[in-house]
Amino acid sequence: MSAPRVRVLGDHVVNKIAAGEVVDRPASVVKELLENALDAGADRIEIEVAGGGRTLVRVRDNGSGMSRDDALLCVERHATSKIRDADDIEGIATLGFRGEALAAIAAVSRFELRTGPGGEAPGTLLRMAGGRILEAADIGVPRGTEIWVRNLFFNVPARRKFLRTETTESAHVRQVVLLYALACPRVALRFEAERREVYRLPATETLEERIRALFTLPAPDALRRVFRETAGLRVHGFAGVPSLNRAERGDQYLFVNGRPASAPVLGYAVREAYRTLLPTGRHPMVFLFLEVPPNAVDVNVHPTKREVRFRHAAAIRDLVLEALRQALAVGRPAPPPVPAEGLPPPAPQPPAPLLPIADLPPPRTFVFPRLPTPPEGGSPANRRGLGAPAAAPDTPAGVAPPEAAASGGQEPWAWCRVLGQVGGLFVVLETEDGLVLMDPHAAHERVLFDRLMAEALAGRVRAQGLLTPETIELSPAEAEQVRANLPVLSAMGFGVSDFGAQAFIVDAVPALLPDLPVGDLLRETAQTAASAGARGGRERWSQERLAMAACKAAVKARDRLTLDEIERLVRDLAATEMPYTCPHGRPTLIHLGFDELRRKFGRA
Ligand code: ADP
Ligand code: MG
Repeated sequence: MSAPRVRVLGDHVVNKIAAGEVVDRPASVVKELLENALDAGADRIEIEVAGGGRTLVRVRDNGSGMSRDDALLCVERHATSKIRDADDIEGIATLGFRGEALAAIAAVSRFELRTGPGGEAPGTLLRMAGGRILEAADIGVPRGTEIWVRNLFFNVPARRKFLRTETTESAHVRQVVLLYALACPRVALRFEAERREVYRLPATETLEERIRALFTLPAPDALRRVFRETAGLRVHGFAGVPSLNRAERGDQYLFVNGRPASAPVLGYAVREAYRTLLPTGRHPMVFLFLEVPPNAVDVNVHPTKREVRFRHAAAIRDLVLEALRQALAVGRPAPPPVPAEGLPPPAPQPPAPLLPIADLPPPRTFVFPRLPTPPEGGSPANRRGLGAPAAAPDTPAGVAPPEAAASGGQEPWAWCRVLGQVGGLFVVLETEDGLVLMDPHAAHERVLFDRLMAEALAGRVRAQGLLTPETIELSPAEAEQVRANLPVLSAMGFGVSDFGAQAFIVDAVPALLPDLPVGDLLRETAQTAASAGARGGRERWSQERLAMAACKAAVKARDRLTLDEIERLVRDLAATEMPYTCPHGRPTLIHLGFDELRRKFGRA
């Protein structure tokens, strides 16, 4: 019988292999030690590295410290004080929880730990090399923990070979320190590399102070405050103005529930928010803190990776995107600062109803003109040739089918009442013959568009001067388009003057659209104008495109409507020529007649 070839590996081999999962370079040692110090409640942390962290990483904190028993246990694999069973991972509130870091670090370095709870209790010194304990002794130490990690990978030549130059490793270490310095403004941090002080950061009350201590910003208003909350989700932080752009993506600091993180949706939202604001190949500077319910994020993807997964990625993308858009919109008042100790977690809310109608009282009744019943099938937009292609090849664009014309807008609705709102957006109306669901944004856009176009076609757009003219910077391509469209812009009530290079000054907007974020508008115009040339009736078409862009921008700028405004909206919408779609062709109203309901309930 031959000797068995399958063998269970010894602890030391296992630890060495596992260590590679947790620690792959000096920066990951710094990360793990920093996280432990923060988890221990330290408010003062000192970090020192030498040889890019290859020869030494030292982290000292004034946190809880450890008793002798804990000190001996903490270097064992899977030894942690932070969770007890698998369920705890769901609601994890600490940065660490795997209980692997110290064991891993100690397995691949010459490791020294000095720790103690302070006061009368003795402290402990533990010296190890390659995972073996060389010395354990009582010592006197102040409250806190100090860990020395020397000669990383001295016993794993294969790993050591993969380390980069001192400069490269040092840069990685610095990035880690920077991230945690941003994550914890209330913790005083000192960071020394190669015997030179890199950061000496006092504890600060706000993130903004910490950012200013870490970065030299060109202007005091180079950062816009970001804040937005929805059901159970919150994002806050700062967004750099577009002119603060970078050639590299490295200056995007993203945090999820207090820990540095990355996720494709976050990157996407940032890119998308700045898409029209930055030339291609340039990247914005952002500091974003996302707070989500712990059970809605999986931080357990990989021990060394910052990547997290979200359960409701789309909601998070929309939240971040909208928050950034708001922050970057011109003339928007900044939200109040978020204190460094953070806010209470965002209130968990059921997903609906959110109430953009600010003051919805019990249903009330009001009278307004009857809307023509929408024809069955086929978007009404098709009939006007707006946006969508014609529905049927034999229906020429711009001619309404006879049945719609016949039923069009004579009889008034005897009454109508706003019942409320569902899905955080849609307004529910009851009418004498059924239910109507209205998308108030789409409806608002239609109303604005019709008015603006009516004024434009009559050659009488009323302009309103801005109190403070705005300077808008565009990309070269956008600037060219805007320049080519200046006459149309001015006919539409925009006071835009060319300020040379890529800058424009806007000093007036159509009086109908006072809330307009003009920067968005110019960019949107530039993007749509490029395709305008080929069409016949270019003038009219340009006007339409511009009006569409303007109305979209204006509606986006105001997302809360009051009940009064909703009621007015219903009346105004009924008065438009094309009440059923917004100028981009999306429906404004969906009608559900009682006849249809009766049929569906088998009561016919
Ligand atoms: P984890 O952080 O995942 O629990 P670690 O291996 O990093 O695992 O640490 C193991 C344990 O050692 C921690 O759970 C904690 O109880 C203790 N510990 C580590 N570092 C410190 C420190 N700086 N101060 C106090 N306790 C610490
Ligand atoms: Mg840890």
